Amino acid sequence: MTLLENDARFVWHPYSAMGKGNPVFGVESARGVRLRLVDGRELIDGMASWWCAIHGYNHPVLNAAIERQLGEMAHVMFGGLTHRPAVTLAQELVALSPAGLEVVFFADSGSVSVEAAMKMAIQYQIARGEAGRTRFLTPRSGYHGDTLHAMSVCDPITGMHRLFQRVVPRQVFVDPPAPVFGEPCQGEHLASLEAALRTHHRELAAVILEPIVQGAGGMRFYSSDYLAAVRRLCDDYGLLLIADEIATGFGRTGRLFACEHAGIAPDIMTLGKALTGGYMTLAAVLTTRKVADTISAGDPGLFMHGPTFMANPLACAVARASIDLLLASPWQARVGAIEAGLRAGLAPCDDMPHVAEVRCLGAIGVVELAAPVDLARVQPLFVAQGVWIRPFGRLVYLMPPFVIEPEDLDRLCAAVVTVVSGLRLSDGLCVPA
Ligand SMILES: *Cc1c(COP(=O)(O)O)cnc(C)c1O
Repeated sequence: MTLLENDARFVWHPYSAMGKGNPVFGVESARGVRLRLVDGRELIDGMASWWCAIHGYNHPVLNAAIERQLGEMAHVMFGGLTHRPAVTLAQELVALSPAGLEVVFFADSGSVSVEAAMKMAIQYQIARGEAGRTRFLTPRSGYHGDTLHAMSVCDPITGMHRLFQRVVPRQVFVDPPAPVFGEPCQGEHLASLEAALRTHHRELAAVILEPIVQGAGGMRFYSSDYLAAVRRLCDDYGLLLIADEIATGFGRTGRLFACEHAGIAPDIMTLGKALTGGYMTLAAVLTTRKVADTISAGDPGLFMHGPTFMANPLACAVARASIDLLLASPWQARVGAIEAGLRAGLAPCDDMPHVAEVRCLGAIGVVELAAPVDLARVQPLFVAQGVWIRPFGRLVYLMPPFVIEPEDLDRLCAAVVTVVSGLRLSDGLCVPA
């Protein structure tokens, strides 16, 4: 049996059905911004493996960091033991993140860090004598992960709340953040948020959102004024603000953390994805001394969470190396150049009848179509163009590694223009013409 036959038989892929024969492509290796398929074809990577691989693949500095740590230890439990990779990484995260975030709790994936962040907010309110504050307010179009409590604050439609309505806790949803990035916020943009806070604030532990960029829930870029207003309102109502920077952290939006666009600091911040440069799964929850002290002084005096692979030393070591590599690189200039390249390269899509909007921010370029793409038929067209681009729903988007060269970025954009221009609307889907 070949790799792909065995894959189809034994392996379940993300958000997929078994046995439906949707195309997957075998990868042999990856280097820089190129993926080499098992059949020898090379693809330019437009996805950075879902926001993660900011330095590209198979980077000698990151490889060396893992190999060095492997010679010391691959893993030890984090209960009662500690190690240099975790402690130095925590110190570095505290130094780089918005002021006031001073304590780090490590987790093993983004969704688990969101679970931990939400439990932290609930325990904080319990410790303050506000045990009734267990719910969360969040804007629609958000995405915070696939575990059940994280799912409860994802967009109710794209997050499939209908299917899970008996098990997912019911949260308070408000209109998606508005206006778009770069525009000033008016009173009308905050009306839904303010009304929900007036009604529900006594039941709420925290507001949770993705700062500036809503990722997998719709790839929307919104005004920094909105984020600043949320910070102000959380303070007015005694709520914690959880900023989920799992997708935006480490430079993707042009700032190291997206909160910096609004000059705000959250009470709790989650990090993941690019944290290790795409090498290992690792996430972190940062919080304030006040939240940590309040929980630790309350009942039962402990934060009730502790993943088995918490602060894995290999992951912490490569995260440190990735952050050092990022900070030593001209990452702001690179992200700025990618933004300019995406704007110019994707502009021809703007005039196409089945394109709703083209938008770019930092190293993110989005072509929103008028209808969802027929992924099974469209995916192979991108591969035939020599690029790895994975649309979802109505969105064809690029978020390449920061190290991409201008010629490769141009090829990615040209592939999007070629493939999108070859689509037409049929029965509510964008299909190859
Ligand atoms: C990807 C993502 C998550 C979930 O992270 P996993 O590592 O997939 O569990 C949570 N929040 C945001 C904003 C994300 O982009």
